[in-house]
Amino acid sequence: MSTTTAPEKHEFQAEIAQLLDLVVHSLYTDKEIFVRELISNAADASEKLRFLKTSGQEIVEPDAALKVTIATDDTAKTITFTDAGVGMSHGELIENLGTIAHSGSKAFLDQLRAKAQGGPVDATLIGQFGVGFYSAFMVADKVTVYSKSCRPGETGWKWESDGKTGYEIEPAEDLSRGTKVVVHLKDDEFAKAWKVEEIIKRYSNFVPLPIEVNGKEINTVQALWTRNKAEIKDTEYDEFYKYIGHDTDAPLYRLHFNADAPLAIRALLFIPAKNLELATLTREEHHVDLYCKKILIASRAKTLLPEWTRFLRGVVDSEDLPLNISRETMQDSALVAKLREVLVKRLLKFLDEESRADAEKYARFFKEHGHCLKEGVAHDYSHREALAKLLRFESSTTESGKFTSLADYVSRMPEEQKEIYYLSAANREACEAAPSYEVFREKKWEMLFLADARDEFVLESLREFDGKKLVAAEKADVKLDRDVQGLDAETAGKLAEFIKESVGERIGEVRVSKRLVGSPAIALSSDSEMTVNMRRMMKALNRDGMAGPEPMPDIEINPEHALIVSLEKMRASDAELGKTVALQVADQALAAAGLLDDPRTMLGRMTALLEKLCAK
Ligand code: ADP
Ligand code: MG
Repeated sequence: MSTTTAPEKHEFQAEIAQLLDLVVHSLYTDKEIFVRELISNAADASEKLRFLKTSGQEIVEPDAALKVTIATDDTAKTITFTDAGVGMSHGELIENLGTIAHSGSKAFLDQLRAKAQGGPVDATLIGQFGVGFYSAFMVADKVTVYSKSCRPGETGWKWESDGKTGYEIEPAEDLSRGTKVVVHLKDDEFAKAWKVEEIIKRYSNFVPLPIEVNGKEINTVQALWTRNKAEIKDTEYDEFYKYIGHDTDAPLYRLHFNADAPLAIRALLFIPAKNLELATLTREEHHVDLYCKKILIASRAKTLLPEWTRFLRGVVDSEDLPLNISRETMQDSALVAKLREVLVKRLLKFLDEESRADAEKYARFFKEHGHCLKEGVAHDYSHREALAKLLRFESSTTESGKFTSLADYVSRMPEEQKEIYYLSAANREACEAAPSYEVFREKKWEMLFLADARDEFVLESLREFDGKKLVAAEKADVKLDRDVQGLDAETAGKLAEFIKESVGERIGEVRVSKRLVGSPAIALSSDSEMTVNMRRMMKALNRDGMAGPEPMPDIEINPEHALIVSLEKMRASDAELGKTVALQVADQALAAAGLLDDPRTMLGRMTALLEKLCAK
């Protein structure tokens, strides 16, 4: 091909253009992370090459050494990263460096956009979102990529961009296999060797191949997970985690273990201190890479771990796996299934032990990653019981913001209590004030307070723990221990009928309660499956898609409450006013349960009642 042909011009996909605009204009801290990101890409490409080679595929220049070579030039103001990895063809350059191929990149864009107006954006996260390459444009006014694919028959290409609207591609002669990224720097800060060395020591010390800066090798190459645990320092672990997790913080937990049966496994797993999903409302995937004798077989191997473990970062190495296992065969490999079972069992055991050893640290873990465990309880049938032990909730016994496990709850249950009770509301205060909690407070029976909207569904799907049924407070068949005072059963029954007649179709049954203490009335779901809270949530999620007519909530009245006792008298003396008060009692109970769709009628009635009261 002749070099005189004009280069092809391409425009960036719209999202990339927006991303670049934000990278250039909003990211002004932690710029040095572009070094880590470009090294990480070179290392990934080299690991892929190593895998192709060991699995017997034909590649060009099979003997080229796998390493990352960095050259700085402070006169030309450039820093250049060269690898002998898999390289990129013409099509791959367009696809990998011009379009958003990862689901995470949109999320990063959204986060950038949201924060661009406000404070500084944490640029160090960019690699976690799968758009690390573009971090080069934080420091560059031009980036040139020379690449030649490792596949026989491919030619070399030059890709170049100023990071604004698009890029150009043209053929390039005399390239060796792999990729060379030339970063043309805006200023010479990163063209100084000592500076670059310092950055590499900080972020990339554990890249599993040699890194050279201007001909000098500077990192410690080692597969940390294959070393003897006793000889590894905490700082080495932390550095390794920061490298593989693209994180700046140390991990919260680490689990390093070897197993020989049923499979030979060396695993080094980390749990980050922060869960990105909470901040970005995206769904993560685990970043656990699968190795066989230090050779990468699959990065972020999907089938290796169940989805609820997606907070994990790390490495699993098993010499029992065939080297040529492909992504497809991994799907139905019995070996991989076995591996997964061992890993999950270890993780569950580890978390259980950690929760006992340091409950406060575990609570921090649970606040960040607990939603993943809850998902596991709902979906991972085979590990449900072990996962249930790891759940934590606030309860009437814990202080606000503190947790109890289900096992500890059970250990505190008095003899006569047979079930585990929970109550779901917007927050702890609302739980404590809920009418359905009254009888339990009186009996001094512990109540789990669920403030996370998912919790009720999780406990519903769990059904029981340690042989005890999990029961929603309002569904519980629990009575006060003492005789109910106030209206006698027959009179109270008549009043209930009167209220039902006054309110009509909007409610189901009206019954006399044996469990209310401080409230005049309570609205309860008449659906045997769902609590009022679940019903309210289903309604919010799916406004018009509910199947069949919605069952009307039932009302229970408290025969001891002064208002109810007076209402009974009023029914005889002033039936008209009595009807108004009955409506008000019912609507207030519905409102307390979040089931009153339109409060205006109730408020109008309230005003009328207040008017009467004030006129007296
Ligand atoms: P990620 O590394 O998370 O995939 P990046 O934005 O860092 O995201 O890189 C995008 C893609 O560009 C990579 O997935 C890879 O396919 C390709 N790429 C980047 N650098 C190289 C390189 N040095 N050699 C081969 N491919 C590369
Ligand atoms: Mg990358």
